[in-house]
Amino acid sequence: MQQDESIINFKKSVKHVEAKQIQTKIIEACKRLYQKNMLASTDGNMSFKLSNEQILITPAGVSKAYLEPSQFAIIDQQGNTLQGNPSSEKLMHLEVYKNCADALCVVHAHPPHAMAWSMTRPSQWEQLVKTLPEVLLDVGNIPIAPFATPATKQMGQNLIPFLPQNRAIILAHHGAVTWGSCIDSAVNAMERIEHAALILTIASSLKESK
Ligand SMILES: [Zn+2]
Repeated sequence: MQQDESIINFKKSVKHVEAKQIQTKIIEACKRLYQKNMLASTDGNMSFKLSNEQILITPAGVSKAYLEPSQFAIIDQQGNTLQGNPSSEKLMHLEVYKNCADALCVVHAHPPHAMAWSMTRPSQWEQLVKTLPEVLLDVGNIPIAPFATPATKQMGQNLIPFLPQNRAIILAHHGAVTWGSCIDSAVNAMERIEHAALILTIASSLKESK
């Protein structure tokens, strides 16, 4: 059976049933982010740390709206592929796990309003987002990391000054990355970024039309 084959390599580290549940939760989370317009085309990727040796990660070049269990990849902490065709942004995920002992899940998406702020008003973003109490209570401040070419090692290295103290970070001109100690907390943090950016976008347009 195809689904069982896809998780055969991580049976050693987590119980079979748990591995299946993790895949199911990631598939659901990807659909949720896709519906919220944060995963256009084949954008974005998600990973989950199964053990110190194995990280489950979404595949390269696949729409996350139609992700299937058999398409998941597994990598080790050095980025070697153990199974499947991992996301080209795997090095960024590994940098997060390396620097954040509590991270079990990493989410990368392209939240459009947050990206627009990073492109047009980065310094205002950092000031204004601090004024939203739900942001501070939920994820703390949301800094903007400098741009790096996607899929390069530099992309992960640009995050190092923000880790582990930040678990929601905008990648200038590109997207955002969040992490958490479970799938829900990492996905909620991504939703929080885009919702905050939407509020600030509406507030700034109202201010300008006064
Ligand atoms: Zn990206």
